[in-house]
Amino acid sequence: MHMERGQHVGQIDAQNVPRFVGFRTFARLPRLEDASHADAAILGAPIDLGTTFRSGPRFGPAAIREASLLLKPYSEPLDVSPFDDMQVVDAGDAPASPIDLVDAHTTIEKHARELHERGTAVIGLGGDHSVALPLLRAAAATHGVLSLLQLDSHTDTWDSYFGGHKLTNGTIFRRAAEENLIDPMRSVQIGLRGGLYSGLDYSDNRELGFKTLLARELDDVGLRGALALAHDHCILPTYVTLDIDVLDPAFAPGTGTPEIGGMTTRELLAFLRGLTRLRAGIVAGDVVEVSPPYDPSGVTALAGASLAWELLCLLAHYRASSS
Ligand code: MN
Ligand code: MN
Repeated sequence: MHMERGQHVGQIDAQNVPRFVGFRTFARLPRLEDASHADAAILGAPIDLGTTFRSGPRFGPAAIREASLLLKPYSEPLDVSPFDDMQVVDAGDAPASPIDLVDAHTTIEKHARELHERGTAVIGLGGDHSVALPLLRAAAATHGVLSLLQLDSHTDTWDSYFGGHKLTNGTIFRRAAEENLIDPMRSVQIGLRGGLYSGLDYSDNRELGFKTLLARELDDVGLRGALALAHDHCILPTYVTLDIDVLDPAFAPGTGTPEIGGMTTRELLAFLRGLTRLRAGIVAGDVVEVSPPYDPSGVTALAGASLAWELLCLLAHYRASSS
């Protein structure tokens, strides 16, 4: 079904067609080719070559799409209907190589770049966290240097692994800083915890400039403190990267490098819904590290789908407040 230019295509109506009927697109949205334009797109980046421990997030986008059948059209806390307020589409998966990480990143960047260049905000679905690097390259090519707002149990700013390899899911934000895609002084990491190699892991990370809020510090400052940190420092066009392992493994067991003592899904939802006053808004984001093979219950993919929906709600919020 090809649409006339300007015709809006929303979700398939779950009150007329059962949710589980038909092709699996994110939230039963039209595919990219079925809409005349797109304000925002979901783009799958199904690779796990950058994984340093348990593999499997190559199956993340498919599981997230399956879980997204549940998503409804209206956000009460933000008072937005992203699928009505914007033309949102599912751009499918970038056909990234499963055996060559550099080549895979090139493919993901190309697909994301084409969308950004046409004015389409991209929400990427990983994939391991290494996919954030090509997604950031694509976003920065259109929007310039970005603020990174990273929800993660890990810094992902280590220098290299396994004899000097610079590209893994644990090194990408050092690369993004080196490439000037992000300004670490204007970037925030929330939820950090778990095992370290040494005290240098956090001090080296802070030396790059990142403002951090460890999971245990969240206990002291609460969500208001976390939101104040984000609003104070993420002042450039902001890219929100959601590593599902920021959640406690009780809420997201299906991930590659789980760390106990994380956020609840309710805390993370409250944080995202409070993120409404960023100076330059949100221009892109991702949900990564959902690894379905480690979660037969599917609750991790449900969290991933719901978080991607919250990012779309934020895009709709900033679109409404800028017009
Ligand atoms: Mn992580
Ligand atoms: Mn990560």
